[in-house]
Amino acid sequence: MNRYRARWVFAGDGPPLQNATIEVSDGVIQRVESGKTDAINLGDVAILPGLINAHTHLEFSSIDVPFQPLNEFSAWIQFVIHWRNLHLSSTQDSINFGIEESIQSGVTSIAEIATTDWRPDSSEVSQHAASHILMFREYLGLSGDGVKTQLESAREFLERTHEPPFSPALSPHAPYSVHPELFDGLCSLAKEFRVPLAMHLAESPAELELLEHGRGPLASMLKKMGVFRPELFEISRRPLDYLQRLDCTVPVLLIHGNYLSEEEIKFISGRPQMSVVYCPRTHAAMQENTHPWQRMLAAGINVTLGTDSRASNPDLSIWNELRFLHNHHPGIKACDLLKLSTVNAAKALGMGRAGSLAPGKVADLCVVPLSKQAVEQPEQHLFASDNSPKGTMIAGNWIIAPDSMKLS
Ligand SMILES: [Zn+2]
Repeated sequence: MNRYRARWVFAGDGPPLQNATIEVSDGVIQRVESGKTDAINLGDVAILPGLINAHTHLEFSSIDVPFQPLNEFSAWIQFVIHWRNLHLSSTQDSINFGIEESIQSGVTSIAEIATTDWRPDSSEVSQHAASHILMFREYLGLSGDGVKTQLESAREFLERTHEPPFSPALSPHAPYSVHPELFDGLCSLAKEFRVPLAMHLAESPAELELLEHGRGPLASMLKKMGVFRPELFEISRRPLDYLQRLDCTVPVLLIHGNYLSEEEIKFISGRPQMSVVYCPRTHAAMQENTHPWQRMLAAGINVTLGTDSRASNPDLSIWNELRFLHNHHPGIKACDLLKLSTVNAAKALGMGRAGSLAPGKVADLCVVPLSKQAVEQPEQHLFASDNSPKGTMIAGNWIIAPDSMKLS
């Protein structure tokens, strides 16, 4: 059993506790209480729940800088496909790099979109398998020919034994890239196996144009790639049609949702199993509109955050997403922003034991040394540029021990 004391403890929901102590035993939080007790004193730091990245693609983690131009979706996605084809042999290294980068920035759980059924190298299991990973096996393809094989592969993936830290989930990629029978089949499998679903939805105006009119930059791109099936886009559709099919009792992550309409927001708000994953810096770099995340929250939708991949974002730090939001919305209290990537993220992913600091929860912690200003006013200054995560505990083990602990 160990006790850790910090100047501030943000439990994940609600205002922070001052001079609080967290008791951890067997990888589980036993107690969180204010007041001085016999404990390892971590000093002027904030202890937070380990951060949760609700959307990334780890296979792109070795990309140095995001592909340009980010504001031309169909051009950008072709760079992504080209890069992937060139780097297939080093996918595992890229994934390892992404997990390490995540842990360095206080992320303890990752919702990963996986195009292969990867596993960490056995020699590096202790380090690279530390994070909790919800693996969304992704499928795409507009041809009807491959659907049967893909659904068999998805079933096999779900039937396989998934040992911790991995849990299985499914992802039909996006409305413009998935055959309707593949989409339907994946939704049915998720329901049968009771696993979460994730789908990129309402990401760009080009996607809406293709769904509604069967034309536009995405149609041109698919034609250029030789995979366009005009018959699939003859009937005018919109994201709502996909939302209706995704409404199937399992946790559903709607990735991006940048251009969801008021009607669609209303539809989602009545369905507590659905969450929207907003990727703030990726959205800002790629889209021209204002993301409706605050309207969604006001409507009662569970909104959480993702970094997306390094193809569109400079790093995999959820802390940097929170700081980005703080810089653009300085009036929002730190505890309310933090909730997006802790409590809300755990709810979205169905990770009931993660996302908050309370008795019985898994001991995933993120430790942030605080500037003088943040020590005085943590709700205003937690996400200021001089504070960054410098300690990560996963399931009771310090993967990165905070400096103040090394001194104690
Ligand atoms: Zn994505």
